Amino acid sequence: MVIGIDLGTTNSAVAYVDGDEARIIPNDRGSRLTPSVVSITEKGEILVGESAKNQAVVHADRTVSSVKRRMGEATYINLGPRQLLPEEVSAEVLRKLKRDAERYLGLDVAQAVITVPANFGEAQRTATIEAGRLAGLEVLRILNEPTAAALSYAWNRPEAERLVVYDLGGGTFDVTCLQKNETEYLVRSSCGENKLGGLDFDALLCDQLLKHFEKEYGFVASRDALVLQQISEMVERAKIELSSRESVVIALPFMGTGGQPLHLTYEAHRDLFNKLITPLIERTVALTSQAIEESGFSAVDALVLAGGSSRIPLVHTRLGEFLGHRPKGGVNPDEVVALGAALYGNMLAEEQQSNGNGQRRLRDVTSYTLGVEIDNGKVVHVVRRNTPLPVDARRTVTTLADMQESVEVHVLQGEGEDVAANRSLGRFMLSGIAPARRGAARIEVSFAIDEDGIVRVAAVDTKSGRREHVTVRPIKDEQYGDGRAISQRVESLARRIRADIEELSVSQDFFDDIKELLQYSDKVLSAKDESALREAEIALESIVEELIAIREDSEDTDREHA
Ligand code: AMP
Repeated sequence: MVIGIDLGTTNSAVAYVDGDEARIIPNDRGSRLTPSVVSITEKGEILVGESAKNQAVVHADRTVSSVKRRMGEATYINLGPRQLLPEEVSAEVLRKLKRDAERYLGLDVAQAVITVPANFGEAQRTATIEAGRLAGLEVLRILNEPTAAALSYAWNRPEAERLVVYDLGGGTFDVTCLQKNETEYLVRSSCGENKLGGLDFDALLCDQLLKHFEKEYGFVASRDALVLQQISEMVERAKIELSSRESVVIALPFMGTGGQPLHLTYEAHRDLFNKLITPLIERTVALTSQAIEESGFSAVDALVLAGGSSRIPLVHTRLGEFLGHRPKGGVNPDEVVALGAALYGNMLAEEQQSNGNGQRRLRDVTSYTLGVEIDNGKVVHVVRRNTPLPVDARRTVTTLADMQESVEVHVLQGEGEDVAANRSLGRFMLSGIAPARRGAARIEVSFAIDEDGIVRVAAVDTKSGRREHVTVRPIKDEQYGDGRAISQRVESLARRIRADIEELSVSQDFFDDIKELLQYSDKVLSAKDESALREAEIALESIVEELIAIREDSEDTDREHA
């Protein structure tokens, strides 16, 4: 039995195939989703899922959530007295899912297909495989989440279709275009962003609420992890309610220390929430547009939604406006990924049993462009984005000097032709090249990307047979790279300025300049133009400095008057 696992940022799900249909396996509490939360009790017992989530409020220091955002990082996470790598924390979640599946199915489960966001890099994929291994699972394949969702949607539909899968979860956003023919599922394009999802929406709403509490009640949230955890849980619940209601009241009774306890309330409105998340939703729409463009689809037949955050009404509205499509019903966005993973696991098992002659085939694509440095700081691209997997691409390079004995192979990721516009993934030396005149040596550089998306680069001197190789780590968030950090900085500077100009009195001219700059910032934020973002950041920073000076002046004046 092969199980399919959607190892999510917030929640995970596990499924299996019964006959020709995939089904979700409920956990030991009967829930179809299991929170991806791990906690340790005072006695050292590991808790996973709902019980760990419940502990989170009281024992924040002994609880880890959203570990998926840290997969592939070589840093330890504190779980009470223990220090664990992200894959070790994830392994605890997987171990529980495996146990729940075994209990439900009444048999041992040894193999799994585990899903990851499409633009997870090699380090994150390897860490996910390792998490599976630690949990006692043979990971048959790492599958991209939106591909899994598309597979699940298209499974029992005979018609050929061009699908767009929009997958907005707790931590990540992915969009994939997939062409379904009779028995083939071909991914045409895929893009996304690793740190964009429900958690960001929670943070924006939380910001708003804390500002309100400060203004209305003079309440400043302490650094107390317990209080913050409590607030963030209420905010998330309120956000979910806003998907079905226009407004919701968040009440936090008995807050504050010393003196009278404070009873805090905040009414969250959908309109304001929509405004807060608009720049992020616009980013997802722009990425959807990019994926469709890269797919070469002349039209889209169906839009499939996956991930809990795709339930947000603004998502439906914006996609409807943009694509002219209403999302397809009958698909549960929380379950569709795990179901697709189970179907794929079943496909792989059939393929193994029939010696590679399975009835259905799935082909995924790479989500990044890879190349090597050549002369003059230029790059030759060896593997283009959206190349079907597995990839075996080769390119011959040569020496620049007579009798050159070694070359450095510099592996790069990115679309640009100049080295400077790419990211360096690694370098290695190939020495012992057979003596030859410049340009005569033939060094074959090969890129092999397996169906799990793991990249190996090798170089061989065809004459001497000398060979070197490395496994490289494509970098997540390729499109945004630093851009994501810069977007966040621009967003937070803009937020700060907006709050300041509400409070401070500035001259009309200055006010108009600021308004214009803020509009410009919103524009570059949704266009994600990195160089424009840098310009905006510098301009916003200088406004912030001016506003600080104005604030200090006015405080001085206040003091003089006092
Ligand atoms: P996933 O990673 O797919 O499990 O998605 C979890 C994310 O979806 C979390 O951030 C949830 O807060 C969010 N979410 C779940 N249901 C809803 C809803 N009805 N409206 C808005 N967000 C939701």
